[in-house]
This record gives sequence, C-alpha cells and structure tokens, in this order.
Amino acid sequence: MPGQADRNAIEIRDVRKVFGSGENPVVALDTVSVPIRENEFFTLLGPSGCGKTTLLRLIAGFDFPTSGEILLYGRDIAPLPPYKRPVNTVFQSYALFPHMTVAQNIAFGLEMLGRPKAETDARVAEMLKLVRMEQLASRRTSQISGGQQQRVALARALAPQPKVLLLDEPLSALDYKLRKEMQIELKRLQHETGITFIFVTHDQEEALTMSDRIAVMSAGRVLQVGAPREIYDSPADRFVADFIGESNFLRAEMAGMNGARARARLASGVEIEARLPEGFSPGESVTVVVRPEHAQLVAADFDSSMPGTIENIVYLGTDTHFHLRLDGGEAFVVRRQNSPNAASTFEKGARVGILIGSTAAQILRD
Ligand code: ATP
Repeated sequence: MPGQADRNAIEIRDVRKVFGSGENPVVALDTVSVPIRENEFFTLLGPSGCGKTTLLRLIAGFDFPTSGEILLYGRDIAPLPPYKRPVNTVFQSYALFPHMTVAQNIAFGLEMLGRPKAETDARVAEMLKLVRMEQLASRRTSQISGGQQQRVALARALAPQPKVLLLDEPLSALDYKLRKEMQIELKRLQHETGITFIFVTHDQEEALTMSDRIAVMSAGRVLQVGAPREIYDSPADRFVADFIGESNFLRAEMAGMNGARARARLASGVEIEARLPEGFSPGESVTVVVRPEHAQLVAADFDSSMPGTIENIVYLGTDTHFHLRLDGGEAFVVRRQNSPNAASTFEKGARVGILIGSTAAQILRD
C-alpha cells in the first residue's frame, strides 16, 4: 500500500537466542536484526536448523530472546504473553480440533477472546467465504482433505484479525500440485486481508514465488534481506548463491576493476567481465558466480568463450541441462530452454565453447 509501505510492523533488533548453558550451549540466533514492513509477505528462508522456527516462536511469545528486542509497531512486546500479542500462528500440523466442525474451529479463537456471539458468527461467515469453505461449514475437520484443513487453519488464525500472521512451513504436508495451488491462495489471502505475513520455509522456489521480501538465514544469522529478484540476481555471498537457484562457481583472479565492473581471469586463462560488489582489491582471489541459464553454448573456437567438453546432457521437459567439464578442470552447467523448433546440435562428448554475457557473472569473495 503506497505511503504505508515503509512502516515496520515488526522490528527484530540484535536478537540472540541461546539454548542451554554450561559446556554446550546452542546459539540458535546469533544477533539477528531485521525489519519487517507492514502489509508485506516476508519469508524466512534457510536450511533445517538455521533458526527460522526459533525466530517465529520469539515473535509469537512462546519463548524469549536471550538478548535483544522485538518491536511491534515500535513497542517492545517482551512484556506481552502470547495471547495478548496481536499475532497469530499457523502451524505445519494445522492443530485443528478433529471433533469440531469447520465453523466451530474457526470460531474457537474468537470465543476464547470473549467476543459477542453475533460478532463471532458474522466473522466466521466472512472467514468461510474468504477461504472458500462455505459449503463445508458443518463438516467435522476429521472429514475434510488436507488442503481443506489448511484453509480452515488459515481462517481460524485470521479470524481475530491479527496484525501479523506467522506461518511455519504451512504447506509442507501437501502434495506438489496442492502446494502450488495453496501458494497462490496464500498470496491472495495476504493481499485481500492486508495482514503482514511472516512465512517460514526451507524451499527456495516457494520463497521466490510468494514473497515480497526474503531473509536468507544460515546458522542463526541473516545473510541477506531483499526482494526475490534482488537475491537471485545479486546474491550477497556464496551460501546465498548456492542455496537460491543453481549456480556455477569459478575460481578467478581480479585482472582489472572499473567502478562496479571487473575483469576476472579464470583458471583457463580466459578473461570475462563481471559485476563487482564493493570492497574488492585488484589481484585478489575471488569466486565468479554464473547462473546456468545465463551461459550459452557456442562453437569450440568462438572468440572469448571458455573451452570445455560436454560430459552429460539431461533433458528436463522445458529445459535441457548440459553438464560440462571446463579445460581448467572445473564442472559447469549450462541450462537451455527447449524449443519445439530447434533441435540441439550439441552432443555428449563434444568440444564446445561457453559464452558468458557481460552482465551475467558476479564476483564473490572466495
Ligand atoms: P527446521 O527447518 O528443521 O524446522 P529451523 O531453521 O526452524 O529448522 P530451529 O528449530 O529454529 O531451526 O532450530 C535452530 C537451532 O536451535 C537448532 O540447532 C536446534 O537444534 C536448536 N534448538 C531449537 N530449539 C531448541 C531447544 N528447545 N533446546 C535446545 N536447542 C534447540
């Protein structure tokens, strides 16, 4: 929403969470700071054990930070118990009451808050419509499908109109097709309600598809925060480049610098142009990252291409992956979109050249 887009709903400030004490404390969050804007679909993305759930639990109030603050619209929420926070959670397991109907499940939180019956009934009707479950209002939740249970869990969590909805891997129990459907559904719900969503996933594709912004986490730290495109196109470091999408990593030496661009000399002696983040010096050993779809196969003698051999070709329907061995010894993958009109002229075992566009490569610290 214009004008309000920069207001922070939640601000995590220097939050540390250490479990246990004595010899082997576990640092689950290591000084995490991240602002989450009002009305945004914000995703915490990272591998298992990186601290995503811990951070959600601290926001929900199920646990407390060892140090640091969590602000909600500028106010420290530490003194508020979970039920007094304008925050609700959707769990992976849904946690519905199986002996209750869909409508009773949705009403449950409102009844606990002591809302008047007429208001609760009206709100339940509104929520049933929002998640398109009007037809199943009086069905027990033990008698509906996984996808429908997911909708009920969402309706129940949204019913008390929280300012922030926390979603802990809510789609992971669904099969692939249903998950894709629910991704679109969740985006719609977030858009229609205007509630700030904080979504946890370890699935990078899901994060890229759904989020306004993503925080990439590893080992208790936030490595990068940005819009999906920003993170995909300009990863802050090797972990992010490896975790989000697919990447080729090439060792190189900085052969020349010019503002935000550099010439990188690869092991094969070929020099390529690459984007250069701040803080590098000439002659430094670096890594060049290239996405497989940003490289092109050309004839082996093509000027300024990297020479290599095709070791394997994998057909993937929409794309083909060419697995190559560069003359410098490194592995490299080129992805090419398939077209019904153009059969590939490149075959396994062939000598080829690899051309990397001048904006496709980026320098990372080694
Ligand atoms: P997953 O995707 O597997 O759920 P996660 O990113 O959500 O992982 P957390 O559950 O936040 O990770 O865990 C972060 C770290 O803290 C892990 O090393 C975990 O073992 C540890 N941890 C979490 N809860 C506790 C606890 N109650 N006591 C001790 N260690 C814990």
